Amino acid sequence: MANISSYDFSGRRALVRVDFNVPLNDQFEVTDDTRIRAAVPTIKHILAGGGSVVLMSHLGRPKGVDPQFSLRHIVSTVEKLIGQTVMFAEDCIGDAALQLTANLESGKVVLLENLRFHKEEEKGDEFFAGQLAENGDVYVNDAFGTAHRAHASTAIIARFFLHDKMFGFLMENEVLNVERVLNSKDKPVTAIVGGAKVSSKITILENLIDRVDAVLIGGGMAYTFIKSQGGTIGNSLVEDDYLEKAREISAKATAKGVKIYIPQDTLIADAFSVDASTQIVDSTAIPDGWMGLDIGPKTEAVYADVIKGSKTVLWNGPMGVFEMDAFAHGTRAVADALVDATAGGTFTLVGGGDSVAAVNKFGLAERVSYVSTGGGAMLEYLEGIELPGIAAIRE
Ligand code: AMP
Repeated sequence: MANISSYDFSGRRALVRVDFNVPLNDQFEVTDDTRIRAAVPTIKHILAGGGSVVLMSHLGRPKGVDPQFSLRHIVSTVEKLIGQTVMFAEDCIGDAALQLTANLESGKVVLLENLRFHKEEEKGDEFFAGQLAENGDVYVNDAFGTAHRAHASTAIIARFFLHDKMFGFLMENEVLNVERVLNSKDKPVTAIVGGAKVSSKITILENLIDRVDAVLIGGGMAYTFIKSQGGTIGNSLVEDDYLEKAREISAKATAKGVKIYIPQDTLIADAFSVDASTQIVDSTAIPDGWMGLDIGPKTEAVYADVIKGSKTVLWNGPMGVFEMDAFAHGTRAVADALVDATAGGTFTLVGGGDSVAAVNKFGLAERVSYVSTGGGAMLEYLEGIELPGIAAIRE
């Protein structure tokens, strides 16, 4: 693989896989340009180095060609963000694309039509990947959000660029930061794992136990752990099929000297609603008719201490139903502890789904070390799975 910082782009056409899968309103205007913004450093770097840029992305889940999902809708937003004209190719392969890309001059930018207008994209079709590859001399993957998919444009295409393939800056950053946590020598390393279900976090927990010193458990999944240890959890979320697995994970952690923290106290409610009655109780004694919707103040204090005493912290999944303010306190407390730890020199990474939404909601994203952009991709990375989009570049 090559390195984007040292690669000589002059006179070369860089075919860049970006994640421009942005939300559009009824007028087909971009309502959140975060993902486009994220690709700007890579695009500008290539142009400044004397190259030209051919951008390719998917948008939504079209079934075949569907004008609603045309990337034409985003051309003006891309132009605004990179500060120059962007030519649009009506198709991502064939003459429509090659007419613009074959002799593309340095400094120019082309955006190809939605990759998913061809079913071959998601199938990872090699012939289609070869057709895409004709649009560039060098392949840059800057779409971390789709790195867990072995699609034509995210993985298979790399075969056509033996040496001239590399990560873009966004992708490079994601990889660097997750690996910094997963292989951290800055101990103690703490993982905070929350969210609704144990079942969706089992593989992550199993992988993390081999890599961290402590795991703080929160969210709905905590009650499966509490019940597995004999606690009474009332009407809290539970996955009875996973009680044994929860015991296994706790035993494995103990055997490895990894400390697993389960919430001592819980904020319970008599309904899943903002105006429910609430009280704080011991997590192992939740009365019938009540459900745990957030961690309690003692747990907040213990978790904050562990976080502040760590050198590396990874956070995935909220501590409670943070979407409702009444049950957001525990998630906020963990976010605040991460901010304090970061200020004290701890490396803190927030990755995967709702904990990212939580730090954004609290306006704290700038005050932790790194917030990952890739939901599903980050989860699979944390599960210890080698992502096809990353492997294809490294191979
Ligand atoms: P996940 O996608 O698995 O990370 O789960 C995130 C979701 O878990 C959020 O929508 C939270 O509202 C939800 N959640 C967190 N704590 C609880 C809880 N104690 N009971 C039910 N849902 C919860």
